[in-house]
Amino acid sequence: MAETIFSKIIRKEIPADIVYESDSVLAFRDIRPQAPVHILIIPKKEIPRVTDIKPEDSVLLGEMFAAANKLAAEMNISEEGFRLVLNCGNNAGQEVFQLHMHLLGGRLLSWPPG
Ligand code: AMP
Repeated sequence: MAETIFSKIIRKEIPADIVYESDSVLAFRDIRPQAPVHILIIPKKEIPRVTDIKPEDSVLLGEMFAAANKLAAEMNISEEGFRLVLNCGNNAGQEVFQLHMHLLGGRLLSWPPG
């Protein structure tokens, strides 16, 4: 697996504030939160970028969205709304090359993003 900081979190080699875990998906609080709720939802399988997603990953992606919905409900932001963000590549500012979905909520989020 191409080593990233998230690989170490998946293997529990470095700490993270884990809020959800299944056989295939892990979710933990972002270390530099940009909103009152800022959670990263990642597959345990190595997928560096959105452009590396394959058709056979469709179930896994569904599990990531299901985890996002479950967490949004638990954090009481389902009704007021939230944002899911996947940054892909340099122009989007992707820093960690393991697929991750940002779940952002708990405040009004402006649009368009920067
Ligand atoms: P991106 O710019 O989409 O690649 O986002 C990467 C995110 O990972 C950033 O929001 C970082 O704050 C977050 N991050 C980096 N290292 C850690 C870590 N050790 N634990 C939690 N979040 C992290």
